Amino acid sequence: MIWTRNASTADWAAIPSACSSRSLIPKPLFDADSIAAELVNFTVTDGVFTHHLLIHLGVYEVKDPTIDVSVMFDRAHMALTTIKDDYKTHIAYYDSNLREKILWGQKITTMLDDALREMQIRPYLQPITDATGKVVGAEALARWIHPEHGFLSPGVFIPVFEKNGMIVEVDRHMWRCACKILADWKGVHDDLFISVNISPKDFYFFDVVAEIKALVQEYQIDPIKLRIEITETVMMNDAEDRMAILDEFRRSGFIVEMDDFGSGYSSLNLLKDMPVDVLKVDMKFLSGSEGGSKSNTILRSIMQLAEDLGIASLTEGVETEQQFRDLSAMGCRLFQGYYFAKPMPLEEFEQFAFK
Ligand code: C2E
Ligand code: CA
Ligand code: CA
Repeated sequence: MIWTRNASTADWAAIPSACSSRSLIPKPLFDADSIAAELVNFTVTDGVFTHHLLIHLGVYEVKDPTIDVSVMFDRAHMALTTIKDDYKTHIAYYDSNLREKILWGQKITTMLDDALREMQIRPYLQPITDATGKVVGAEALARWIHPEHGFLSPGVFIPVFEKNGMIVEVDRHMWRCACKILADWKGVHDDLFISVNISPKDFYFFDVVAEIKALVQEYQIDPIKLRIEITETVMMNDAEDRMAILDEFRRSGFIVEMDDFGSGYSSLNLLKDMPVDVLKVDMKFLSGSEGGSKSNTILRSIMQLAEDLGIASLTEGVETEQQFRDLSAMGCRLFQGYYFAKPMPLEEFEQFAFK
């Protein structure tokens, strides 16, 4: 079903998706607010059970009555694809920005194969330091240097690929790049590690442990040098299975880091059972950290809890010397942020870290 809005009466009308002619458009039925309200408590009964249905609506407001029904349907469908499965939103409206966004997503998806093959997508390394400020490792963050569109930050392409599943190709590519770098550093800069990101999607598509183990074997590197960053959203589904996977990583010699801790559903309770070695504390706690704010109290508690559980803490997004000092005093062990350096190309990182 498509919902369209009559421009003159501002009422909403339903068009059966099979409708092929504008003359079949029925009379307006509801206004948008009542549709949204209806959707929250929608039940059907089969005589025995009552079923609660979760209904999502994509809405296209028809401004030009001469537009073809198939175009209306396409646009309502585009709006529909933006609704996430988070039970928060049931109704989404089409606008022209959305069309641009979807077309961009389609375009970069068709460009991805070439981008990976031609190394247009490559790791930038952001230094990670210890409490003395010494560089002890780096996080590999994807950057796309496109011959036509120029420099693309991950915010422009990672969410698109997260959504359509192509992130698994980007991640595989990034893990391989990180392994190559570690292999080149072997025997010269053996003390440095590289952390790589693992998307929740990777867990659905293949055996991540087997894949990454095969890579470290191929490049003959010690697994302890390649750190595995997962986000807490990974634990939202199949928590037990996922814990077993993380456990397997650790038993295979990798260090597992929980990324963006505190940004979402962080369950302190879950943490006690989580097979992780490092807690990467989300940078949002730092926004108010200077000067003994509530954020400082939370940060101190997280550091203490991590310490008690035998988990090292790393704070991301450290931007000032004061933050660095405060965090060190709280017991934070590792640091990452613009105060030290932004993510940079490999050659620059090597000059920065090995000077
Ligand atoms: P993330 O994993 O949380 O990475 C940290 C982000 O914070 C990076 O943004 C980094 O540049 C930024 N950052 C570091 N220090 C500071 C600071 O002091 N202040 C501020 N304001 N920001 C800082 P970036 O590189 O844009 O990456 C954004 C996100 O994209 C990453 O967040 C990660 O979730 C995702 N991402 C990047 N590369 C990959 C990848 O290869 N695979 C996957 N799955 N995700 C990736
Ligand atoms: Ca990360
Ligand atoms: Ca992070």
